[in-house]
Amino acid sequence: MTEYQKTYIELKKQFSKTDGGPDSVRALYAFKEELEQNEDPQAKEVLVDVYDLLAFKKDAYELLCQIGDRSDKKTLKRMGTLKDYAENWGNHYALPKPKTPEEKREEKERRARLGLPAFRYHPDPLDTGAFEESEEGVICDCCGKATPIFYSNPFFSVEDIAYLCPACIASGEAARKYDGSFQDDYSLDDGVNDPEKLDELIHRTPGYSGWQQEYWRAHCGDYCAFLGYVGARELRALGALEDVLDDPMWDDEQKETIRESVNGGHLQCYLFQCLQCGKHLVWMDMD
Ligand SMILES: [Zn+2]
Ligand SMILES: [Zn+2]
Repeated sequence: MTEYQKTYIELKKQFSKTDGGPDSVRALYAFKEELEQNEDPQAKEVLVDVYDLLAFKKDAYELLCQIGDRSDKKTLKRMGTLKDYAENWGNHYALPKPKTPEEKREEKERRARLGLPAFRYHPDPLDTGAFEESEEGVICDCCGKATPIFYSNPFFSVEDIAYLCPACIASGEAARKYDGSFQDDYSLDDGVNDPEKLDELIHRTPGYSGWQQEYWRAHCGDYCAFLGYVGARELRALGALEDVLDDPMWDDEQKETIRESVNGGHLQCYLFQCLQCGKHLVWMDMD
């Protein structure tokens, strides 16, 4: 066994033991960067495993194609599996490198400088990917102004809209101008009686993007905040899995599916949190 393999096995052990804890992922990232700089073929072999574990499927596939021994049946089989993932997902679902407290603070300050409006029901739309950033900037269809940040998730309107800026969403101007909405008002939990809350959710809140029809959860008489895309691993890491399973929405079979869900897999979970009591809830659908 090579030194690289030994290190990898040790790091993988930590990773499994902590269920993908931030320290273990950071250590894997450091190892990945080290191996990327290393020209030793034995290092490259282990780099395929590291890419695979961190779900850089495209990188794993391409590297294996370069260095893999095609006369070896096991390698060929692995190539086939990775090819499938790589073609469907690329590196899209790679585990993000966990940020240090210092990096988190810097990112928070950077975002504060961008002056994004606050969205009660979608508190971090940059994090969830509802908003994208463009260095050159794009022109908002609604107000005609240049914006470095634009909305890229569903907007239900007759006209085709390419870009909306955060301000036109927050003010309700985009929904008014195009008679559109960001969330279908039939795909919501019952139990919210305040029409102002409904208006804020469907007309002034960036939506999210599901496999199927997006559905918005509610709890304690209010709509919940959308926190992002998750699978069982992310829910465990947040300590929210049991909370999410304690929900009359799901029968035993569905609870089992949530326990086995993988972020970016065939069954996708969408995480919400009650703004009143803090309870976590999910919505889920299939591709
Ligand atoms: Zn605008
Ligand atoms: Zn609640």
